[in-house]
Amino acid sequence: MRLNTAAMRYLSSDDFRVLTATEMGSKNHEVVPTVLIAQIAGLKGGSGVGNCISELAKANLIARVQNAKYDGYRLTYGGYDYLAVKAFSNRKSIYSVGNQIGVGKESDIYVVANETGRKCVLKIHRLGRISFRSVKNNRDYLRNRTSASWMYLSRLAAQKEYLFMKALHQNGFPVPEPIDHSRHCIIMSLIPGFPMRQLSSHEDPSSLYSSLMSFIVRLANHGLIHCDFNEFNIMILDDPESDDDQFVVIDFPQCVSLDHPDAERYFKRDVDCIRTFFERKLGYVSEDYPRFKRDVSREASIDVDVQASGFSKKMVKEFEKALADSRENQNNGEAVDEDGDKDEDDNDSDDDSDDDSDDDSGDNDDNDDNDHENV
Ligand code: ADP
Ligand code: MG
Repeated sequence: MRLNTAAMRYLSSDDFRVLTATEMGSKNHEVVPTVLIAQIAGLKGGSGVGNCISELAKANLIARVQNAKYDGYRLTYGGYDYLAVKAFSNRKSIYSVGNQIGVGKESDIYVVANETGRKCVLKIHRLGRISFRSVKNNRDYLRNRTSASWMYLSRLAAQKEYLFMKALHQNGFPVPEPIDHSRHCIIMSLIPGFPMRQLSSHEDPSSLYSSLMSFIVRLANHGLIHCDFNEFNIMILDDPESDDDQFVVIDFPQCVSLDHPDAERYFKRDVDCIRTFFERKLGYVSEDYPRFKRDVSREASIDVDVQASGFSKKMVKEFEKALADSRENQNNGEAVDEDGDKDEDDNDSDDDSDDDSDDDSGDNDDNDDNDHENV
């Protein structure tokens, strides 16, 4: 799903009020009753709200839902995107939106720029994009309602990633600089490099290998396991300053605390991913690799710091459960996208999307100035 910047500039302030009212109403209602939207928006005059609602629905920022009990509207991904990008724009974190450089199953990545022309990355979390059942096609919708709605899940994912990235950056880990956060979106620095997946040879694989393994151990010593430490989430820098400074690690929503009951297994899985990649792609095999019990000893507690800074234990639990439920739905073939269309490609879109990001990620400096849309 593309970010629609066209509607951004053309909403009237009343339209924006009604959009915000729909978002507020969504906190307690999966489908927000039309009367509630009108009440929250507090607009004077009867037809005003109706006009705003039809403008917003035309722009696909909200969608009408009819069910047995009442008619109402829900915020679409487009509407949620709008609210986040508008917040960034008001805070001057971004000025224009450029090319999409990555699309995963659970996120869309855009190059954006601020007023000074500095290029950054906008990551839009899209959890539940394909597992969330459509209202249109599912009459049991309200009965099946769980807290695992796409909006809630995606917001938790962004919040978690932002807080962890901030703590890691402050502790000197090679991660993007987190710049701003709103709803399901994050702004971070643009890494001048490419995913490690594109490496087919390396002049000194042993130095890269040992830096990556040191990263895993140092992260664990700070209380965290990445849990998705693979060639897609390691960016190789175009112009590294030194051997110790060859890569940047991205993509943190699934990381867990060292105290997680499965920490040892996740640690080993991260280590094994790197060993397998080096063996298969670079022909490099080493018997020297970190072991959880032998090599990890806690020196710091980023896991605990992040909990204290806003991502509570309860949120961790909710998020992990919701993530597991969402993934289970996907595996059970309940792939229905936000518009309610069964999307048969979605279940195996992984490879395609990775290829997309590969093709484009080397071209960050291309002519995307021309393609930037002001917001
Ligand atoms: P997902 O959760 O969908 O895997 P990622 O955070 O891994 O999302 O980002 C997907 C792709 O977008 C990456 O593989 C990379 O090519 C690109 N990307 C993400 N963040 C950055 C960044 N800060 N700088 C440059 N490219 C990025
Ligand atoms: Mg990734």
